[in-house]
Amino acid sequence: ATGGASRVDLDGKPIRPITICMIGAGGFIGSHLCEKLMSETPHKVLALDVYNDKIKHLLEPDTNPWADRIQFHRLNIKHDSRLEGLIKMSDLTINLAAICTPADYNTRPLDTIYSNFIDALPVVKYCSENNKRLIHFSTCEVYGKTVGSFLPTDSPLRLDPAYYILKEDASPCIFGSIEKQRWSYACAKQLIERLIYAEGAENGLQFTIVRPFNWIGPRMDFIPGIDGPSEGVPRVLACFSNSLLRHEQLKLVDGGQSQRTFIYIKDAIEAVLLMIENPDRANGHIFNVGNPNNEVTVRQLAEMMTEIYSKVSGEPPLDVPTVDVSSKVFYGEGYDDSDKRIPDMTIINRQLGWNPKTSLWDLLESTLTYQHRTYAGAIKQTMSKSTAS
Ligand code: NAD
Ligand code: UDP
Repeated sequence: ATGGASRVDLDGKPIRPITICMIGAGGFIGSHLCEKLMSETPHKVLALDVYNDKIKHLLEPDTNPWADRIQFHRLNIKHDSRLEGLIKMSDLTINLAAICTPADYNTRPLDTIYSNFIDALPVVKYCSENNKRLIHFSTCEVYGKTVGSFLPTDSPLRLDPAYYILKEDASPCIFGSIEKQRWSYACAKQLIERLIYAEGAENGLQFTIVRPFNWIGPRMDFIPGIDGPSEGVPRVLACFSNSLLRHEQLKLVDGGQSQRTFIYIKDAIEAVLLMIENPDRANGHIFNVGNPNNEVTVRQLAEMMTEIYSKVSGEPPLDVPTVDVSSKVFYGEGYDDSDKRIPDMTIINRQLGWNPKTSLWDLLESTLTYQHRTYAGAIKQTMSKSTAS
């Protein structure tokens, strides 16, 4: 299946097998990227993370056809002297490690800033000093709020794409005040992007920066009380999945008026693989990776997920499936929000010829089928236990 000899890059040149140091490989995106690399390429992965639950199926049994191409290293990059050696052993480093759930940004701002900026510094430094290529994961959140959000609500300019489409090389980064600690994450990500860009300009670091726009799919985050803390607040896909599985109302923060574009993880992983295998086209670039065709308000997302979950589970939806909750109650003091996130696709299209494929309906249907199959049994058990006691 790896067919190393016949695989060619976008310019028709044969692809040489490489070794990839993947930091944060045990997370949502990392698990899908490892899966892709194992099943469709000849590359080797040194998988670094503090957890490996989401890639267990790739690490065991050792009769997997790719068993000699993936190696797990349990380590925390905050304090582990093995990091530089592993980067040196590899041709390419991909850094995914981060605290990246909004519930943490305003409640654990120090951990958020350390994780997204300070802890990423040695990775950048080791890559630069050892002339190793780096693909660093940033976020669409570096754009912050749209220019249009500052116009009067009735301004016709709000409908003009020039005021809301997010372009890598042109849009400004607009964050709220310092008390709005939500922006601690975006600001840390922005500064590490600037540092990487400067390493490229001054020291010749070969880098690619990825800005994911709400990638979603199976294995994202956790279901509170099942495979994560019962008080934990994951990102919206897992929050809504959790409520649907428990037959509870979906909570709409501040009315659910914010808009997002969601992309299927499998489409997004195709883009990352193109970056890995086409360094001449990807180096020195910052890429939006999202699906501009899949825009909804959070309220529309809730309605769509409710309808699809009912279809895949065969259980009727609640009469009133959603409930409004203030951001202060849901996330605490210091929360703020991005109003709208539509990625411009010009640069990734030009450099890598990539386009997203999967509609929002289809990606929610396959993801909710997975959620139901994976969690419905365990949820029923915990719910019957808590009503019995
Ligand atoms: P995730 O939380 O599932 O994965 C991050 C992984 O990094 C986790 O497995 C975690 O254990 C690991 N990690 C964190 N700190 C570490 C440390 N000090 N040492 C070792 N491992 C550590 O998140 P994800 O959705 O897979 O996101 C990956 C990257 O993409 C992050 O940088 C995130 O900011 C970025 N991103 C993702 C999205 C998205 O839509 N999923 C959107 C914007 C940005
Ligand atoms: N949200 C919501 N209910 C929830 C979880 C999230 O209304 O239970 C909203 C959140 O306020 C934001 C959007 O959904 O407007 C997306 O949140 P997510 O956590 O996925 O991250 P973001 O896109 O803001 O980075």
